[in-house]
Amino acid sequence: MVLAQLGGSISRAIQQMSNATIIDEKVLNECLNEITRALLQSDVQFKLVRDMQTNIKKIVNLDDLAAGHNKRKIIQQAIFNELCKMLDPGKPSFTPKKGKTSVVMFVGLQGSGKTTTCTKYAYYHQKKGWKPALVCADTFRAGAFDQLKQNATKAKIPFYGSYMESDPVKIAVEGVERFKKENCDLIIVDTSGRHKQEAALFEEMRQVSEATKPDLVIFVMDSSIGQAAFDQAQAFKQSVAVGAVIVTKMDGHAKGGGALSAVAATKSPVIFIGTGEHMDEFEVFDVKPFVSRLLGMGDWSGFMDKIQEVVPMDQQPELLQKLSEGNFTLRIMYEQFQNILKMGPIGQVFSMLPGFSAELMPKGREKESQAKIKRYMTVMDSMTNEELDSSNPKLMNESRMMRIARGSGRHIREVMEMMEEYKRLAKIWSKMKGLKIPKKGDMSAL
Ligand code: GDP
Repeated sequence: MVLAQLGGSISRAIQQMSNATIIDEKVLNECLNEITRALLQSDVQFKLVRDMQTNIKKIVNLDDLAAGHNKRKIIQQAIFNELCKMLDPGKPSFTPKKGKTSVVMFVGLQGSGKTTTCTKYAYYHQKKGWKPALVCADTFRAGAFDQLKQNATKAKIPFYGSYMESDPVKIAVEGVERFKKENCDLIIVDTSGRHKQEAALFEEMRQVSEATKPDLVIFVMDSSIGQAAFDQAQAFKQSVAVGAVIVTKMDGHAKGGGALSAVAATKSPVIFIGTGEHMDEFEVFDVKPFVSRLLGMGDWSGFMDKIQEVVPMDQQPELLQKLSEGNFTLRIMYEQFQNILKMGPIGQVFSMLPGFSAELMPKGREKESQAKIKRYMTVMDSMTNEELDSSNPKLMNESRMMRIARGSGRHIREVMEMMEEYKRLAKIWSKMKGLKIPKKGDMSAL
């Protein structure tokens, strides 16, 4: 069961409970059992699930709730809070600061995606104005240095490593020294992963850690490892001071829940998740928005984060202003389609919104989606200014649609399909009404 399915099962359970005429012990139990089953099937550790269930029952005492109370809301909130609690052990042990040198060491098993993640992490920060650098202290795996070098070169990030030197501690120390002198503010040390947990791996990790004194150790974990996640995470935590976790391959068919319960084993938060092989398929992990997304409630903060990343800086204030007004016109849709075609990754922006990406831009079918968007734009090219600037879908009566179909040379069915898409997006958009608008140039205020 992938995470999206887990989310679906949980929201369905909540929905079913909401549909019941009276919410009594039986309805609540059914809902909780359904959620428990979904979590267990997703490889979340049994003890965590059991604790969660007990806690919700403690909070939601149906007998004590007076008739006036909105039981559904209270139960929903309790489920949301407990899921958040399960995934949130607090802040990472250290948070690097831009402009101040920090050393971050990456650890994890071979194949977990460690080297890829090092570059993604560096690239993410570089885009935000940091000066990152990569050090390859993996002398065990043949080709590790080449891989890091290739990734780093592509992203224009300075790197350090050696084909000749076999002592990882020496390389790590030299690399860190060098980049400290060059005033890099984020020095990332990639260590060896080996095949499985073995004494030599942990010993080497300890030595590199002692020699480079990292400010933060990040444990990289493949989301597909399932129930083994808890023990693996704990073994790493016992050898080095893991301060944060990054879970990779969340895009795959992995169950994901196991890796998430690793949070409990390391008592360290997940700070990012990897969602693909490419450099920018990397997302900040925040518990509340994640759970909100998991439950199909949308992830507004992730959405804002992505807007800052992919919408050209000069267009951001205008787009946000329009968002806050909540009026979604066909012209806004047209402009956003233009962005999607121009910039590609903006598709990721909308994937943060419930219902958007799945239908308009399914992953892996980008070409078809682009063709569809182009067709919609051709249709819109035959609209009048009044039609484009109106946020009232009723304006688009049948005779107008017929005219547009004739003008654009498309079938009326396509015009109707485009309008359906518009209505769907407008509904999502309307939820943005009242959004706080940051001052021009100060996107960090969000
Ligand atoms: P390492 O041995 O831990 O350094 O792992 P690598 O960085 O070499 O990654 C192993 C494989 O996983 C490579 O093929 C990566 O492209 C792939 N990979 C890493 N992160 C992700 C991710 O988030 N999603 C997907 N789909 N693949 C990933």
